[in-house]
Amino acid sequence: MIKLLLLLLTVFLCGPLSAQTKQSKNTGNKNSNPTWVKNIPAEDVITWRRHIHQNPELSFNEENTGKYVEEVLKSFPNIEVIRPAKTSVIGILKGAKPGKTVAFRADMDALPMQEETDLPFKSKAENVMHSCGHDAHTAVLLGTAATLSKMQNQLKGTVYFIFQHAEESPPGGAIDIINSGALKGVDAFFGMHVLPNFPAGHVGILPVGAASTAQDVFHLNIIGKGSHGSMPHLGIDPIVVGAAIVSALQSVVSRNVEPGEMTVVTIGKFQSGDAFNVIADRAELAASIRTTTDKTRKQVEERIKEIIDNITKAYGATYELEYVPTYPAIQNDEALNAHARKSAVGILGKEQVFDAPMMTASEDFAYYRKIAPVSFMTLGIGDGAANHNPKFTVDESALQNGVKAQVQIILDYLNK
Ligand SMILES: [Zn+2]
Ligand SMILES: [Zn+2]
Repeated sequence: MIKLLLLLLTVFLCGPLSAQTKQSKNTGNKNSNPTWVKNIPAEDVITWRRHIHQNPELSFNEENTGKYVEEVLKSFPNIEVIRPAKTSVIGILKGAKPGKTVAFRADMDALPMQEETDLPFKSKAENVMHSCGHDAHTAVLLGTAATLSKMQNQLKGTVYFIFQHAEESPPGGAIDIINSGALKGVDAFFGMHVLPNFPAGHVGILPVGAASTAQDVFHLNIIGKGSHGSMPHLGIDPIVVGAAIVSALQSVVSRNVEPGEMTVVTIGKFQSGDAFNVIADRAELAASIRTTTDKTRKQVEERIKEIIDNITKAYGATYELEYVPTYPAIQNDEALNAHARKSAVGILGKEQVFDAPMMTASEDFAYYRKIAPVSFMTLGIGDGAANHNPKFTVDESALQNGVKAQVQIILDYLNK
């Protein structure tokens, strides 16, 4: 359920990286050029991506995408395919020698929106579009699996290629795969998300610690007592109660959360009343809350609940509150981040690796940390519309660098 639109707005407004957006050409690999680079099926990666793009499926409905991925994986040597959830697929590559187990994750779902590009391979499905780039994630990881499947003799350990369903829709697909038990024994998880308006093929290393935000949502019904607008003493005005709650909630970030800790409390909905001379009997509020640590997440939830409870009591109203946690924040591991950076620089050169700013969006990749440390990174895809925009496109010249970085990260992790 990544809200990359928010992320991209943040990134656009953040200036310091804008200089990088001007060089949108992939300058190619100037450094080492290991022989395996020749084995990257660059054209196939584009074919796979276009097929998936043209045939998008919504979260939890990735039946055909899952089948397609399974067939492609089965066409590679040495890969065992398992289905940990109805529409998820994992390819497992066991190296010639024993060692650690490393997982790379791609997500496969599309979004409920009408594509507005004029691509020759635009979506054939009405109101379904790959506007978050998960088609590219899937194709790049297939390219990585294809390349590594020919290097089994050189591998020490096991690689899991995770093709995950339903990233865009909480509770998300990651938790299904984790609960299936299929990932027991994985020592490290990596993931890579495409990011427009960064140079095509440049890999962005997200911060250590919080790399994205946790998002919680609440829905609140304030139940007052309706009355004539001229007889307020006979009613309990839910609008006055709601206004007091909205004002008091502003103090959570400004007075309770430690200064400097990124936290947002946004009341996105406040609806009540139909007529100017009637005191309504109910008011509806809804909010989204973004935090980056478990401690603050819990603290903010507690304060919000206290404020709502006490203010409604003070005004003689009652309430119904639904507080819904969605994805936690991705917590990038320091050692894995350093590893990803070193490998990416090693294969792409340092001019094609940059420090990406924290995503203010949320991602269910965060859940894999329940099993092992994680590192999430970005892949620049050139100038264009934001993720989740109907005009979103991917500069396909970026995909080869995505495969190169993924292969190198896996090789280095297993063979170090
Ligand atoms: Zn998304
Ligand atoms: Zn996404």
